[in-house]
Amino acid sequence: MLIPCPWCGEREDNEFTYGGPAQVAYPSDPEAADDASWARYVFFRANPKGKLAERWVHSAGCRRWFNVVRDTVTHQITPA
Ligand SMILES: [Zn+2]
Repeated sequence: MLIPCPWCGEREDNEFTYGGPAQVAYPSDPEAADDASWARYVFFRANPKGKLAERWVHSAGCRRWFNVVRDTVTHQITPA
């Protein structure tokens, strides 16, 4: 699978590390959040069949983070 780094161009996926889904909302009032709210924030993620915004880091290259949209069925990646 080729992943397009915004700074280096397309590279093999073994140069990258997956950082999880993008756009995970931090609790709006962290001091008031209970354990269940923190558990949802830390551990619970959507697992859609289709397009998913993701964070990746070019760990064996420029070491910069970026977002992409990956189709979880076809693995087609488009810049976010
Ligand atoms: Zn890069």
